[in-house]
Amino acid sequence: MDRGALTISIDLELAWGIWDKPSNDYFGRCAELETHIVESLLSMFDRHGVTATWAFVGRLLDRAPSFPVKTDHGEKIWYAPHLIDSIREARTEQELGSHSFEHVYFGTIDRQAARADLDAARAVHARHGIEFRSFVFPRNQVAHVDLLGEVGLRVFRSVDVGWFMAAGRLGPAAGMAANLLDKMLAVPPSVVEARRRGGTVELPSSTLLLGRNGLRRLVRPSAVVVKHALGLRRRAQRGACSISGSIRRTSTTRRSANSACSSASWSSRRACGTRARSTLSR
Ligand SMILES: [Zn+2]
Repeated sequence: MDRGALTISIDLELAWGIWDKPSNDYFGRCAELETHIVESLLSMFDRHGVTATWAFVGRLLDRAPSFPVKTDHGEKIWYAPHLIDSIREARTEQELGSHSFEHVYFGTIDRQAARADLDAARAVHARHGIEFRSFVFPRNQVAHVDLLGEVGLRVFRSVDVGWFMAAGRLGPAAGMAANLLDKMLAVPPSVVEARRRGGTVELPSSTLLLGRNGLRRLVRPSAVVVKHALGLRRRAQRGACSISGSIRRTSTTRRSANSACSSASWSSRRACGTRARSTLSR
């Protein structure tokens, strides 16, 4: 029987997420909040028996000889094996996926550099006995997709689908405003289909769960709950169709989340065609 699936994926990156756009405020929140956020999420997932995919930057398990930006926060915003340990030791099984080795932007690098980064990420997973099967492109720059299958990756999350994406063509500000408006409205996220692409499966994202910092506080938690309940109902009504979503930062903590970006996806196992065990396919 075909079954629907809700996928939650989280981009775990700490300071690597903005190495090219340094922000002292952001780095400070990484240092202060990241561990709390990860532990809060794991606790919540345990309470509800939820498995998520934590796509982590390989450097969190492989200390860089020097860090891209000099800060006062020490190495803990660049190197955090304890976070990976927490995820591996969670009572409810969690999947560790990849968010690249050094958070490089695949849309801006050549094939050789992309392959080198993927190989390095794969080596980190292998050294630590972690499966290498799910991938999230840094900053959602989907490129060199054929390489994913070559290094053994089975599934990747791709960009959001929804009316608000069209607004992005008018400029970054319009895109951000439309995205925020979409999250404020209790309307269901888009229904999407997982599809085979090269040697892997692409799972688009339906919606982003925003952290409650800055203007994002305008997004009421009740609207988020209604939106996702409607999404599940719509998926159920459409049988084998899939809904996939992307949650940037999580709104599950009272304090604003910082460097953990998350993504949720509803998908059909048949459409994914992979063993459904991860955020990207569960
Ligand atoms: Zn990222």
